[in-house]
Amino acid sequence: TPATPADELQTILQSAYASSAGNTSGALADYIPELAKVVPDSFGLAIASATGSLCAVGDAEVPFTIQSVSKAFTYCMAIELAGREAVLARVGVEPSGDAFNAIEFDPHTRRPFNPMVNAGAITVAGILYDRLGDGAFDAVLDRFSRAAGRRLDMDEAVYSSESATGHRNRAISHLLLATGAVTNRVEPIVDLYFRQCSIRVTAVDLAWMGATLAHMGENPATQDQVFDLRAVRDTQTVMFTCGMYDYSGNWAFDVGIPAKSGVGGGLVGVVNRQLGIGAYSPRLDAKGNSVRGVAAFSALSDELGLHAFDCT
Ligand code: GLU
Repeated sequence: TPATPADELQTILQSAYASSAGNTSGALADYIPELAKVVPDSFGLAIASATGSLCAVGDAEVPFTIQSVSKAFTYCMAIELAGREAVLARVGVEPSGDAFNAIEFDPHTRRPFNPMVNAGAITVAGILYDRLGDGAFDAVLDRFSRAAGRRLDMDEAVYSSESATGHRNRAISHLLLATGAVTNRVEPIVDLYFRQCSIRVTAVDLAWMGATLAHMGENPATQDQVFDLRAVRDTQTVMFTCGMYDYSGNWAFDVGIPAKSGVGGGLVGVVNRQLGIGAYSPRLDAKGNSVRGVAAFSALSDELGLHAFDCT
């Protein structure tokens, strides 16, 4: 796709917003009690380019918790810290077709299927905890902040709420200990996972974080080399095949760009070498993806010809 001028990008972003805003279907996630307290109608979109420009529309500066969008970025960190082979030995790269919180492991390898489901992401948290110990959360927060280009923080209320109710994730972490996918005590690992999910971002932050991946690991606004180049390729790959829960195949078919969604209503997309796209709208469809986020990405992909296999 040839580069689109900034004013044209803004117009296309506005029309994607307008065509999706009327869709008020879906429901807030409520299995983490605190998530059910957000303003349901918020809707923001942002695009950051690999040349360092930004367009935004709607509630693009409204903060929300990153939730599973964090999984893509912690995976990138784990590959960088532990190396690709060591990470692959503990978590696979195969789409599972299962829901995010499935208690299911690859029957052949006994590893979690991929790093985008909870079992895989908790394993990745274990790898970070192995390397960084109690400093792991600060390292995650620091890296996410550099990718966003500003200092981020954690939503204490969401963290406490998930920590108090996350029994299923604790159960998964104990199964991971039983299979040897994690080697430490599980409580600090699951705590790291709950904290990383509670980092507060905006659609604009996600656009910059996506643009950092798109721009080979360098934040295009700050020119900070945030992620290792080699880890970025692997991260985009699992986002492409596994990033949208058990909708990932349909997403690849319709939208065709690496992406990751979270139950907080956030969605990040990466158009390699070109753009990062951030969306926020907290009402989710049955698969756990933001209804208006998915609609807006689909419109943007069509309008801008962003599908990886676009022929026009
Ligand atoms: N912290 C959430 C959980 O593990 C994240 C889920 C998600 O965004 O998919 O349940």
